Amino acid sequence: MKINAKRLALHFAEMSQIGKIGETGTCRPAHSPDEKQAFELASSWMHAAGMQTRIDNFGNLIGTLKGSKPELPVLMMGSHLDSQPYGGRFDGVAGVLCAIEAITTLTENGIKPKRTIEIISFADEEGWRFKKGLFGSRGILGKLEEGELQRTDANGITREKALINFGCDIGKFKESEYKAGSIFAFLELHIEQGPILDRANKPIGIVSGISGPLWLTVKMKGMAGHTGSVPMHMRQDALLGAAEVIVGLNKIVTQVPGAPTVGTVATIDVFPASRNIIAEEVVFTLDLRDIDLDRRNRYEQQVRELIDASAKAHQLTYKVSVDTNSEPRYCAGWIKDIIGEECKTLGLDAPELMSGPFHDALALSYACDYGMIFIRCKDGISHNPLEYSSDEDLALGTEILYGTILKVLQK
Ligand SMILES: [Zn+2]
Repeated sequence: MKINAKRLALHFAEMSQIGKIGETGTCRPAHSPDEKQAFELASSWMHAAGMQTRIDNFGNLIGTLKGSKPELPVLMMGSHLDSQPYGGRFDGVAGVLCAIEAITTLTENGIKPKRTIEIISFADEEGWRFKKGLFGSRGILGKLEEGELQRTDANGITREKALINFGCDIGKFKESEYKAGSIFAFLELHIEQGPILDRANKPIGIVSGISGPLWLTVKMKGMAGHTGSVPMHMRQDALLGAAEVIVGLNKIVTQVPGAPTVGTVATIDVFPASRNIIAEEVVFTLDLRDIDLDRRNRYEQQVRELIDASAKAHQLTYKVSVDTNSEPRYCAGWIKDIIGEECKTLGLDAPELMSGPFHDALALSYACDYGMIFIRCKDGISHNPLEYSSDEDLALGTEILYGTILKVLQK
């Protein structure tokens, strides 16, 4: 291996001490003193790799390795060092630490790239503190929305206040934005956060794209009545109608065996929720994801027809509202090819898989070509202190990232 696996493992161990909860957990909220401390530690490693560092006005940590032709668009890589409140040691951290190791190796080998390389730890990828994520990666692309700075956390602190406390100048966002065309490509290494690689016993996966979710809220309304007296054929039972939709959704998304489509109903509110009143109104959320947008659209249509049929069968009225409708964003074919070649060189058979969760790469996909490397995580567990990827797998992923960087720099 060209990268230093031992050093990489030490960096993970050191980083996991900051915001540590329990034996293996992490709580590093966005724009917090703990995140600042994580930035300082990561900066010290970036400096050792020959990079200059700064924190921009969105609260992103940026390490820069200046190229001999700084006028060329930059090669950007990274992920995030903020964590879920009850999170693990690898989500986001892997993308930053493995990139630092790869660039350290580059410098140690005396390679002087023409293009400038940047490693970014993006601010507030997780989004739980202010209930909106990808803050830093959207910020640098000028894609913040109205009112974002006035969002508050559980303690009533606004994003604006948190950023100012972090040392950001919120009047100078423009200075921290990247101009169109100034980013050549973006690379993100991330733990899979799902069970596919672990089940298949493969350490590395090549991401095909990030599937955008379709989020619907469905309200079905019938008629309340006494459960002891209203005959079955006269009922307008909203919960029965909803139940048919929930079961039907599962059938719809499993039509093609082995396809990556996923559909879930995970919240349901029943009114009036009394054991001897027939449910009058049911509201549930529906989450549908697929890397194939045509198929997702077809399935959405089928779900809508099912809701209509179920409502008719039980004499219900209904309303479907769309909360989020993101399109899938595909990884660049040429970057996938390079990652694939690097895997082959190491004798690895790396499967292609889509990402159900979103990542900072989703925001960057609107600015440049991007590629992602997935690392196996044990039992697919993530957003949980039990999250685990082995030192060996992380080193392997870093070696592939390093080889990928060298080839991307040739372009
Ligand atoms: Zn993440």
